[in-house]
Amino acid sequence: MTRVAPKVAIIAGAGPAGLTAAWELLARTDIRPIVFERTQAIGGIAQTYEHHGNRIDIGGHRFFSKSERVMQWWFSKLPRQGAPAADSAWRSLDVEYATDALVRTLAPEAVDGTRVREERRSAPDPEREEQVMLQRPRLSRIYFGRAFFPYPLSITLLVAWRLGLVNTALITLSYLKAQLFPRRDETFLDAFFINRFGKRLYETFFKDYTEKVWGVPCSEIRADWGAQRIKGLSLMRAVSHAVRDLLSTDFRKQQEARETSLITRFFYPKRGPGQMWETVAQQVREAGGQIQLGARVVGVRLTEGRVSHVTVLDETSGRREEVRCDYFFSTMPIRELVTMTTPAPPAPVREVALGLKYRDFLTVGLLLRKLHVLEKGRPPQARVDDNWIYVQDREVKVGRIQVFNNWSPYLVADPEHTVWIGLEYFVDENDALWAADDAALRALAVRELEQIGFALGADVLDGCVLRMPKAYPAYVGTHVRMHELRAWVTSVPNLYCVGRNGMHRYNNQDHSMLTAMMAVDQIVAGQDDDSALWDVNLEMVYHEGEG
Ligand SMILES: Cc1cc2nc3c(=O)[nH]c(=O)nc-3n(C[C@H](O)[C@H](O)[C@H](O)COP(=O)(O)OP(=O)(O)OC[C@H]3O[C@@H](n4cnc5c(N)ncnc54)[C@H](O)[C@@H]3O)c2cc1C
Repeated sequence: MTRVAPKVAIIAGAGPAGLTAAWELLARTDIRPIVFERTQAIGGIAQTYEHHGNRIDIGGHRFFSKSERVMQWWFSKLPRQGAPAADSAWRSLDVEYATDALVRTLAPEAVDGTRVREERRSAPDPEREEQVMLQRPRLSRIYFGRAFFPYPLSITLLVAWRLGLVNTALITLSYLKAQLFPRRDETFLDAFFINRFGKRLYETFFKDYTEKVWGVPCSEIRADWGAQRIKGLSLMRAVSHAVRDLLSTDFRKQQEARETSLITRFFYPKRGPGQMWETVAQQVREAGGQIQLGARVVGVRLTEGRVSHVTVLDETSGRREEVRCDYFFSTMPIRELVTMTTPAPPAPVREVALGLKYRDFLTVGLLLRKLHVLEKGRPPQARVDDNWIYVQDREVKVGRIQVFNNWSPYLVADPEHTVWIGLEYFVDENDALWAADDAALRALAVRELEQIGFALGADVLDGCVLRMPKAYPAYVGTHVRMHELRAWVTSVPNLYCVGRNGMHRYNNQDHSMLTAMMAVDQIVAGQDDDSALWDVNLEMVYHEGEG
């Protein structure tokens, strides 16, 4: 009897979307996944890089989702902590401990057709075990003019005090003006922000940071993006809170409570997001899936309207190989996919793809003896509780500062005596900052830290620089014509564009994963229509943790 060769799914990219697709295929189908990853790293943007024993993310990655399917998927790989972490006691962290855990692993050796092994055990202790998901308090604030402001911004009287009373009066007048004479056309972000906050508040808190992130004026960024980020924020509500606080008997306490109420909690793997994706990758390999690093997809061939072959370039040897496939999952930038496909997609589709724009990202990691935060009216602070801080000052280029000790003490080799931070810069690939050498970038980061009053150069012990191309798919350029690209993608039945750059969507990990899961759902159900994938993240939005 001849054995039928298993069907093959080629997956471009070993980030959250690609690895989720591989895991789901192995768990639920007989299709054999082969993942080709351009770099030497697992996890894509959600990787964790190790430098001299200190681990650093490309931006901190909160694990939080409105999708129960995603939350359970994460916990079944890295179960929730059942006991305190190293810093829980001295930082008085309020954590909900789990009692037990349900761990699900791929089971390649099972003979009864079971593809997933389930094991119930007690919830892990992060001080003794590696595979554990921590629950962390979240604090992120805006640092501006040597004062901290709540993020998302809310106008409490304490905030008004920090801004100065004259400034606050001008902000109020400018807000009233915007209410009386709103801009009619809200296509672009500047009008969107001004209509909601007034011009002065927009210029103080929104304009510079947004332009740092996107590298273009707010008058050129479409409002879709802003609408996602400031959902639920209203100046009227903020002001009514402020008046209520003023009438309360303990004014300062009320104000502080309102600001700290912005603290919520999120989940985070003990060794950073990369640990999640390294765990998944290991399971995929053990179950017979293939993951090839340093392998860049450079060509996609269509035969009779379906993807039949993918060409892969070995980045080390320069060798090219054409590999046959039954399904193709693409998490690589959709702009690249369209330009490498033969026969070429129709001209308008190519035009949309070529007009898509990205924003790139670099992080300077610095290991310090301590911080030296000069907040007005307080002695210098050696530590802060924030996970990340938005740097609003327009004289510096840095956009955010991550404090990795507060994400997980296990990211830092010596969390008691050192502070491990990441200064984030939003750049364009090949601009002056991107092209600067690492020593110059480190020097810039140290200079800017001193300039804003955050740390002293004399306290720097070590550093590293990480560059991430295409970290942000931008909602500018031909993005308004994405529906044309989408129509082409959905017309190719065995092509699944999933994930962040795969769909040119400002997706978090959960949305990227859901698109991959839904693609596998379609395959399992024997359906060709993958248009539902494109609705993920249109209504399930929360983005305030990013960018
Ligand atoms: C600063 C920042 C902070 C963030 N914070 C959060 C957060 O708090 N929580 C959260 O959930 N999400 C966060 N995100 C989003 C999260 O990083 C992404 O949603 C997620 O990584 C997307 O996964 P992906 O697999 O779709 O894409 P990616 O992570 O981009 O992975 C794609 C992979 O494909 C590879 N690739 C590209 N081209 C090719 C090719 N031609 N051949 C082979 N391989 C290729 C890439 O090298 C990469 O490894 C953040 C993102 C940024 C930039």
